Amino acid sequence: MQTATQSMKELMQTKWNKRPLIISGPCSAETEEQVMETATRLAKTGKVDVLRAGIWKPRTKPGLFEGIGTKGLPWLASAKKVTGLPITVEVATAKHVQDALQFDVDMLWIGARTTVNPFSVQEVADALRGVDIPVLIKNPINADLELWTGGIERLQKVGVKQVGMIHRGFASYGNTEFRNAPMWHLPIEMKRRFPGMPLICDPSHICGNRTLLQSVSQKSIDLDFDGIMLETHIDPDNAWSDAKQQITPEKFAEMLDALVWRHENTDAKEFITALATLREQINHLDDELMTILGQRMKIADKIGEYKKNNDITILQTNRWNEILEKAYAKGEKLGLSKEFITKYYDAIHLESINHQNNIMNS
Ligand code: PEP
Ligand code: MN
Repeated sequence: MQTATQSMKELMQTKWNKRPLIISGPCSAETEEQVMETATRLAKTGKVDVLRAGIWKPRTKPGLFEGIGTKGLPWLASAKKVTGLPITVEVATAKHVQDALQFDVDMLWIGARTTVNPFSVQEVADALRGVDIPVLIKNPINADLELWTGGIERLQKVGVKQVGMIHRGFASYGNTEFRNAPMWHLPIEMKRRFPGMPLICDPSHICGNRTLLQSVSQKSIDLDFDGIMLETHIDPDNAWSDAKQQITPEKFAEMLDALVWRHENTDAKEFITALATLREQINHLDDELMTILGQRMKIADKIGEYKKNNDITILQTNRWNEILEKAYAKGEKLGLSKEFITKYYDAIHLESINHQNNIMNS
């Protein structure tokens, strides 16, 4: 006979393999009623796979609500019983892991403030030895992919088989548009490092407000993320934590409805042929670009020789300004942004300086 726990495990397995995987629930569990009402209203939308709630809240400053603690776990367990939704909580210590497992939490996540600390990640990992449930790890607060990678490796080393990543953006001083800058190239690089590992976007903590949630969610879908984690609350304005970014379960359903879901692949022949042709053209152009860049550096080497023989400095500011101004003007005509031209020329310039430096100091 199958036990309830066994069937929940199977359900979690199905959810884990579902794309997109949608996780939602309050930033923090506050009261038994709040957890239950959020859960039932979310379940009613039919759009959520896993119910989240923070039980232990790592807060940047003291004096804020630091989570209801272990006493909130039975509330989540009841919400699971009533709605049939698997549940997930954030863990930061071995004790959190033990308590969560005691209440049959189906999936765990490691928060951004924990991922930055290898001691903490290792402690959580050690507590997970022999435990077979999915564990998601958020990016560290700072833009350090090695820390994120290290966290994943710590989990894998103790034998956690189902590891996933959550992109929640990166803190930076003076950042205004986003609470945490998405820096999309970083999660994309993680996708390259860990092919096949689920990558979930957390627009709530990237945005820090409600207005940007929709566009950030859409962007993550366009970048082929595997799912979304969104904070929902029955009374967002009066939430005990992260009030500005939470939305009601009904608003959450509306938002999901308005998203355009895209797939990485299709069987449509016309699309496949067109894409293959265009990619071939890109490969060809990339190849030419590399050849031209190589030629450009050879010329820089020659200039280096002349400068060396005549004791002239490598950097000549006027000349460089001239090149940049010309490039901006041409770039504009070609539809290339000033930001791109600046980055592109900075990279070329740096490589050129390195080449000349090698020549002049050899
Ligand atoms: C959270 O999910 O509520 C949370 C604390 O997020 P983060 O670790 O991304 O700050
Ligand atoms: Mn939160």
